[in-house]
Amino acid sequence: MTDFIKVKKRTHYSGDLNASHIGEHVILMGWVHRRRDHGGVIFIDLRDREGLAQVVFNPDIDPDSHKEAHKIRNEFVLAVRGMVQRRPEGMENPELKTGEIEVMAHELEILSEAKTPPFVLNENIEVSENVRLKYRYLDLRRPEMQKNLILRSNIAAQTRLYFQKEAFIEVETPVLTKSTPEGARDYLVPSRINQGMFYALPQSPQLFKQLLMVSGFDRYYQIVRCFRDEDLRADRQPEFTQIDVEMSFISEDDIYRITEGLICHLFRTCLNKELSVPFPVISYAEAIDRYGRDNPDIRFALELRDLTEIVKNSNLKVFQEVAAGGGVVKAIKIEDGKNLTRKDLDGLADYVSAYGAKGLAWARVNPDGWTSPIFKFLTASEVENINKKMEVKEGDVIVFLADSPSVVHDALGNLRIHLAKKLNLIDSGQYAFTWVNEFPLFEYSETEKRYVSKHHPFTSPVMEDLPFLTNDPGKVRARAYDIVLNGTEIGGGSIRIHKQDIQSTVFIALGMQDAEARKKFGFLLDALEYGTPPHGGIALGFDRLVMIMAGVESIRDVIAFPKTQKATCLLTDAPSEVSIEQLMELSLKIV
Ligand code: ASP
Repeated sequence: MTDFIKVKKRTHYSGDLNASHIGEHVILMGWVHRRRDHGGVIFIDLRDREGLAQVVFNPDIDPDSHKEAHKIRNEFVLAVRGMVQRRPEGMENPELKTGEIEVMAHELEILSEAKTPPFVLNENIEVSENVRLKYRYLDLRRPEMQKNLILRSNIAAQTRLYFQKEAFIEVETPVLTKSTPEGARDYLVPSRINQGMFYALPQSPQLFKQLLMVSGFDRYYQIVRCFRDEDLRADRQPEFTQIDVEMSFISEDDIYRITEGLICHLFRTCLNKELSVPFPVISYAEAIDRYGRDNPDIRFALELRDLTEIVKNSNLKVFQEVAAGGGVVKAIKIEDGKNLTRKDLDGLADYVSAYGAKGLAWARVNPDGWTSPIFKFLTASEVENINKKMEVKEGDVIVFLADSPSVVHDALGNLRIHLAKKLNLIDSGQYAFTWVNEFPLFEYSETEKRYVSKHHPFTSPVMEDLPFLTNDPGKVRARAYDIVLNGTEIGGGSIRIHKQDIQSTVFIALGMQDAEARKKFGFLLDALEYGTPPHGGIALGFDRLVMIMAGVESIRDVIAFPKTQKATCLLTDAPSEVSIEQLMELSLKIV
């Protein structure tokens, strides 16, 4: 059986053949994608990772292989020797890279037979994802999946190339480590040698990369697997990959330039696309104010405008009350909203109610005023001021929401995206990057009744906000930044604290007593006292970046062996029970 492979080597990938090979003898090896029996002649699309080629078995050319070809079924593995020829006129397939040619078979060996797969691999039909994940090795044969993983490999290779060229050093950090909280739960690994003790799988190499700066490596990167034991919201994986970066003697701008350089390099080399840099930078406060969220999609307008000042004394009670109670009245302009029916507009109110908003007012702009249920409650000058602030023209529609700032921002931030999709305002070929910076250093956790880090505890405060650190921590801004692409956060980082006293003060603001801080992070506090350069970095979500570059909707489509929403692997059945002996060795008992 394997003799063929011993003596004859594959000469080409099927998908690489083209008219320049006409007249050549080739040896192909691959899977049967499709088989068609046309009376005397049998046609096979032979598939490998580079694509498909049509192979022809003609009884007049080689009776033996033609006879053997009768046994062939989909997904059999074949070795074929044959001659590349031009397809007969009218038989070309312009949809196929190899559509001009075919291979006339002179010799065939069936290397492996295949059962009928549980789903068709040669058509784009909807298959339940659970079935795809259970038979992932078959799912991965599909050309789209091969394309995604090949792209992923190219992006990783280009990432390394870029960083090496920029004089970065790739350093591997431990996978069995001490937990360094980043706001999620750790995956724990029991230690056999040190019974009762646990390692944690890294949520990120954060502290190691900072220590590498203390060690003088100056520019570090790593393509690194990270682990977070979170309840999986849509499209999160318990293990995921980051492009992790840290640099010394730098400020925010240096991180922006290096990251933009990387992204431009990846889009140029992997997608043949030029991006324009620098990416815009907006502050967290401005992002919330204008887009209702800190990951704004700036491909379309529909910006939020604050009307509180204009309407706070109006005769409309809700506006008045909300303004008096510290809330806000904000609005979005829908340009050319003529086609929105009354029913559509009422539907928008239903939409925002899911975000806790109690009703949404609207107005159609006419030459002589508005058509609107709230028109009669507003004075002419209020209407005029709103028109001015919203920069409306005839035919536009304004939607208003009055509530607490958080409800208004959440509801309108989501409504913006909902409207953009509904009104087809998104150009799917566009890549709109933006930096968001000056995040709050802390946010108050109602469940823990204390401040928690918005990014992580090693992020530097903005120096002029230092005085608030002890008396009004909610006011302190962080030297943290996120990079957002088309409304999705694809990475984030910060300038770090490099002074021991500030680090200790931040731990205290987080409610960590000295002893606890020493126990958890003593090694960092010590290191900070031995000559630490100012430093900062960023981590980009590699899976998400590949997903967007591949133009697919789920990160599972760019990960070879992903887990389900329940953190299980349907292929291997992980996680699974372990034997009593294994537990005993670890001194563990299941309760
Ligand atoms: N370690 C951070 C994260 O994983 C990123 C960074 O601050 O560099 O989100």
